[in-house]
Amino acid sequence: MSECVGEKELLFKVADLLTGKVELDLLLCRTLFDVAETGISLRGDVRLTAELKPRREDIILTGSMTVPFEMVCSRCLKSYKVDSLIELDGTFRAKVEGEGVEEMLDESGPDISFYESGKVDILPIIRDNIYLSIPMKPLCSEDCQGVCPRCGADRNGMGCSCVSEDIDPRLEVLKSLRGNS
Ligand SMILES: [Zn+2]
Ligand SMILES: [Zn+2]
Repeated sequence: MSECVGEKELLFKVADLLTGKVELDLLLCRTLFDVAETGISLRGDVRLTAELKPRREDIILTGSMTVPFEMVCSRCLKSYKVDSLIELDGTFRAKVEGEGVEEMLDESGPDISFYESGKVDILPIIRDNIYLSIPMKPLCSEDCQGVCPRCGADRNGMGCSCVSEDIDPRLEVLKSLRGNS
């Protein structure tokens, strides 16, 4: 079993990177990613397979990560496991002395990060990509039936007796309004 790596192992000297390609196959400690707030957890460490290579003065990062998430389905409220494959694609450019970050962002793009002190830190882009991959409404499956709005039974399993008269609640309101008049 390989040991997981921390922040220090994700810092690279630009001087080393400019001489040639560096291949990475790392297990990133799950403690590097604070996802608790999202209601999602990591079942284990994150596998990163990537390469860093120079392109003129820039350092290009390409690769992918496998993230072992444990999510709670927004429809049936059950937790489920999913291994997300997340692509990584980023460019690191030297921060020019005296130039404001805003001016630099103008001429670059959203995928460009700046490095300082001769070191490239790939952790921020890894974190951003993991956080961005977390769905707003996780679903255990595309066609999860969720729970019955009336009795709360899980409609994926045994279901309940209300399932057969599955009526849009808005129509229900109309029906009862008409019944009263
Ligand atoms: Zn579900
Ligand atoms: Zn029901």
